[in-house]
Amino acid sequence: KINPRAPIPEQKMLAGVKNVIAVASGKGGVGKSTVASNLAVALANLGYKVGLLDADVFGPSIPKMFQTEDARPVLRKVDGKDKIVPVEKYGVKNLSIGYFVEANDALVWRGAMATGAIKQLIGDGDWGELDYLLLDLPPGTSDIHLTVVQTISLTGAVVVSTPQDVALADARKGISMFTGEKINVPVLGLVENMAWFTPAELPDNKYYIFGEGGCKRLAEELNVELLGQIPIVQSIREGGDKGEPSALNPDSVTGRAFAELGEAVV
Ligand code: ADP
Repeated sequence: KINPRAPIPEQKMLAGVKNVIAVASGKGGVGKSTVASNLAVALANLGYKVGLLDADVFGPSIPKMFQTEDARPVLRKVDGKDKIVPVEKYGVKNLSIGYFVEANDALVWRGAMATGAIKQLIGDGDWGELDYLLLDLPPGTSDIHLTVVQTISLTGAVVVSTPQDVALADARKGISMFTGEKINVPVLGLVENMAWFTPAELPDNKYYIFGEGGCKRLAEELNVELLGQIPIVQSIREGGDKGEPSALNPDSVTGRAFAELGEAVV
């Protein structure tokens, strides 16, 4: 039985990693991986040493978002143990189950295989010295979440949602999972993604496609911080598909939004 208040055993810390932050969402498709990858790049731009673990075993998207799908991480002996060397791009060290399996294989894994794979990527990754290790968790509340908190002690969790009611309802469940007895991890705050849309031809207009102010209200109700709001922007989607996160260009409007999010998280 897990005792959430038990002291953290030494082996749950990764030597050299100062902060481990989970990026989570209640619902799928709200932009959790987009936020995780851009936040990682934004933190690297701010001068931090950053790692990103794609823990979304059933839908790994980090290799695509970093355009590293063809990478095959190699092993390196560290103190006599085989360690998996992360793939490094844009100043971020990343590892994903996507590098080790054929595209559709992990989809049919049993829970135990998926949780075993996550433990291995966390524990056997040659992460070295990091200021921040971000974990892109699967959506919802699952075995993987429990495994992650049993494997490594988290500094906190960032929860991504759109302002839409169905997404907010699931974000609320996600937050109560983190703050609940079993997991007991501080929630650093909410990120509102797809907050509004501004068409190029009407630059002063904001259209609240998924509703206005939903995350602010939820943050106030649950007494968590609203860390940032990211609008719907075509270049964010294109950047994800091309493997060139918008945060690479901190002078663009979207790059600035992710840089501000990075500053809010540290
Ligand atoms: P999740 O990890 O929550 O499943 P993704 O990060 O994969 O979600 O995002 C889902 C889709 O929405 C992707 O096609 C992504 O490019 C797109 N997307 C996410 N955030 C934005 C945004 N702010 N503006 C435009 N498109 C976005």
